[in-house]
This record gives sequence, structure tokens and C-alpha cells, in this order.
Amino acid sequence: MPDIMTTAQRSRAMSAVKGKDTGIERFVRSALHRRGFRFKKNVARLPGRPDIVLPKYHTVVFVHGCFWHGHENCKASKLPETRREFWEQKISGNIVRDAKHAQALRDSGWKVLVIWECSLKYKSISDKEAAVESLAQSIKVNQ
Ligand SMILES: [Zn+2]
Repeated sequence: MPDIMTTAQRSRAMSAVKGKDTGIERFVRSALHRRGFRFKKNVARLPGRPDIVLPKYHTVVFVHGCFWHGHENCKASKLPETRREFWEQKISGNIVRDAKHAQALRDSGWKVLVIWECSLKYKSISDKEAAVESLAQSIKVNQ
């Protein structure tokens, strides 16, 4: 399929895929930091450039946007009706790429965790805290 996105569209799309520091990412980072976790962010040398890297726990965390990363059975990942085929290919490509990155990370000894946008966006503060608490437990638990 020809790549019909303009450069500007593509760069917007890519920044949406890898938003440098979305509100959700900031929330997760600061909530983890408050719980005493220390981490690096967007470590470029690791596959997929994980959003949060916790060397002490050999754990990486991806904060995934539901649409771009194709969250299964999630309302927020519903594809637009127009240019359906384009979006299906685009998003399934992202899913395949994410899976490859996760496998490469696991192969080199990292635990790979994902926190989805829908568990945080438009949620009450207590729901958000609960989502981060569950992430925190997963970070601490042995693989
Ligand atoms: Zn979702």
C-alpha cells in the first residue's frame, strides 16, 4: 500500500504514537515517583524506546495510547470508518512492532509492562491512583 500521508501528517501521527511526554505519561511517572520508584525515561537504546525504565526492577513500562497501539476490546481503539483499510494496516503494523519490541526486551531479561491510556484518561483521581497502584505491584512482583 502506498504511503499516502504527507510529511506533516506523518510527523503528527508519529508524535501521537510516541508523544514525548503526554499528560498520562507525566501522571504515571509522578505517581510512581511518589511511591519511591526511580526510573529513566524514553531510553532510546532499548527496543521500542520504553516510556519508563526501572533498572532496579529490570522492568520497563510502556504507556500505550489505545488507538495507536490497538488496545483489544477497547472503545478508544475503534478505527475511523473512512480509510478503513489504511488504518487497519497502520494499527496492525503497530501491534506487530510492539510485540517484537516486547519480545526483544524479554529476551534480554526485562519485564515488560503496559499501562493503557483508557485506565487513566477521563478517570477519577482515585481510579487513576488504583491503576498506578496495580502497576506498582506488578513492578515489584518477581517475574
Ligand atoms: Zn484502552
